[in-house]
Amino acid sequence: GIPNGANLDWKKAPCRFCGVGCGVLVGTENGKAIAVKGDPKSPVNKGLCCVKGYHSIMALYGKDRLTKPLIKKNGQYVETSMEEALDLIASKMKETIKDHGKDAVSIYGSGQWTIPDGYAASKLFKGCIGTNNVEANARLCMASAVTGFLTSFGMDEPMGCYEDIDYADVFFLWGNNMAEMHPVLFSRLLDQRLKRGAKIIDFATRTTRTSKAADKSILFRPQTDLAVANAICYEIIKNGWVNKSFVEKHCNFNKGLTNMGYGLEDNYKFKDKPSTINFAAFKQFLEDYTPEKVEKISGVSAKDIKYMAAYYGDPNKKVMSLWCMGMNQHSRGTWINNLVYNIHLLTGKISSPGNSPFSLTGQPSACGTVREVGTLTHKLPHGVVMKKEHREFAAKIWDVPVENIPSKPTYHTVEMFRALDRGDIRFMWIQVTNPMVTMPKLKRYRDGAKKEGRFIVVSDIYPTPTTDIADVILPSAMWIEREGLFGNSERRTQHFEQMIDPPGEAMSDTWQLVEVAKRMGYEKQFYYKEETHIEEIYNEYRKHHVGKKHNMAPLEVLKSQPGAMWPFVDGKSTKWRFNSKYDPACSNGEDFHFYGKPDGKAIIWQRPYEPAAEEPNNEYPFWLNTGRVVEHWHTGSMTRRIPVLHKAMPHAYVELHPDDAKRMQIKTGDKVKLTTRRGEIVLPASINQRGVPAPMQVFVPFFDENMLINDITLDSFCPISKEPDYKKCAVKVEKA
Ligand code: SF4
Repeated sequence: GIPNGANLDWKKAPCRFCGVGCGVLVGTENGKAIAVKGDPKSPVNKGLCCVKGYHSIMALYGKDRLTKPLIKKNGQYVETSMEEALDLIASKMKETIKDHGKDAVSIYGSGQWTIPDGYAASKLFKGCIGTNNVEANARLCMASAVTGFLTSFGMDEPMGCYEDIDYADVFFLWGNNMAEMHPVLFSRLLDQRLKRGAKIIDFATRTTRTSKAADKSILFRPQTDLAVANAICYEIIKNGWVNKSFVEKHCNFNKGLTNMGYGLEDNYKFKDKPSTINFAAFKQFLEDYTPEKVEKISGVSAKDIKYMAAYYGDPNKKVMSLWCMGMNQHSRGTWINNLVYNIHLLTGKISSPGNSPFSLTGQPSACGTVREVGTLTHKLPHGVVMKKEHREFAAKIWDVPVENIPSKPTYHTVEMFRALDRGDIRFMWIQVTNPMVTMPKLKRYRDGAKKEGRFIVVSDIYPTPTTDIADVILPSAMWIEREGLFGNSERRTQHFEQMIDPPGEAMSDTWQLVEVAKRMGYEKQFYYKEETHIEEIYNEYRKHHVGKKHNMAPLEVLKSQPGAMWPFVDGKSTKWRFNSKYDPACSNGEDFHFYGKPDGKAIIWQRPYEPAAEEPNNEYPFWLNTGRVVEHWHTGSMTRRIPVLHKAMPHAYVELHPDDAKRMQIKTGDKVKLTTRRGEIVLPASINQRGVPAPMQVFVPFFDENMLINDITLDSFCPISKEPDYKKCAVKVEKA
């Protein structure tokens, strides 16, 4: 029974289920969250929610919530007190450091970490313990966007904001099933089509709900987006659509290394080595990418390539490019990010209302926590561990000797699990994520984590395949059961207060980290008072981001309004960075200033097409693509506890093209066996139901812990970003 709501206490929070960061209002009564609705005051969603948002509070009340700390004894989990569990974690970490060194302990978190969670983890491991073994699952979803930004502009995160949607004439979706993955934002695109006739062009490897809603759907052969993006640049130059004054004033041309490998074991080079080229050399390079040549590689007709280029090139059209995993989970993820920026830079369609290359994030705080707090091996809250001045700056705020912070990054995510397998890492604390469902080539890493001599701590809210490998399980408080802050895709930081009590002994991940830090002897650095620790941590964190380029909004502001976008200067969010009309940090007196680069100029990169790490052959003739569905959040550990979502999408499936299904006499619901070089899996077929892959391709969603598609995916990654390519490997498909 839904109460009439008359006595509900409504409070604002950002939704915790995706990087769009919709504002919601949660209604509580008698200590229970019983209603949720979109916040009409939120500029993000203007009162709307998607199915996950509307059902989000039900994820708090699954029957099997973890409520007590558990310790594995003789192969069985036994309940223990929080005190004993925290003491054990602290003593195991100390023992591991003594026996195997600082780099034998690690923490693996998430883009669902709140800002204080990630900050406490980074301070404890990098500042106090003295290891850069800090990583987060965002490495698996947006690391290529980060390296794309850094290589092209020298600063991370989109320069524009969601308001661009209100001005753009054309939306290009690059491998981006926005209708399912960012539904509320997609509804804003549809709204602009209705109101202003804006066009939506879907460019992808399979037909999805997004393609069906788009004005035009163009399919390309996996990996060849690299070639098509270059062909668009070729057309822009050939037709004289280059914004010459913008390019001359604001851009340099570079080329980087090629053939850098695919991250398979050690066959990749750690660093790209850029060298400067000129416009003539860039133009010459593009001669290999005429639309006619690229048609043969990509399967996209020369006519469609010219059609796309004409929109980008039309001086009267404002263009927004939007992407997410399709471009980031790519063995050349950094390159394809660079290439889309090339298109916007050549035409000068950047950093102004409606002209916006925009990488979306999947998780509610992939930007806020992972990118801004810097919970990646090479990062600090401000800057990188490799730079002495950045280490000195962080050490001063953290109140630790600068020598504590190592100057070299250690392991990125895939390498971290390889190190656990080898035994170089002996202790791993996993918070708010489920790597035993999400790691590529999963079986190898699951076996590695279970080896003798490894100690695994998992903090989560429900049992998962990852808690199955834990030596200690800590019950975590979720979302509005604690105070926190998230940062969404448009650089918007949003605060939420604790609205209800967590169940049993569950506590926030921040609290768990602070308590373990104190037990390890870092009381001085972790001086926070229990009642105000989130506020104290956020205020301390803000000291890392000072100046007009970085400033974060004060907590009072975030408490009083639906978030603010950084840089927050003179009481205002910055909507368009690098454009002097909107960005107070632009100081060169020019119209644009890409101040992340030493000379203030963005870089147009020469990036060729290179084939995928594993391409289909006679034995494995299909492409395998993986991804998400609208009903489930990531591995489904929360959304499968929401009855209506679980009922709507109870298990994984394999999508086939109708022609392939007909040839193999496979009908919807038939069992299909998929075999790769890593193993095999059997799933029910889905034909013409939701998505339709191109012929000789299959798609499988990864949310189902009972059908672990990642057991058979490939652990190749972009050699620059180290982000795995979950979108392509070779697979054999048979009727089971
Ligand atoms: Fe939540 Fe994302 Fe849905 Fe918005 S679009 S309601 S943030 S899951």
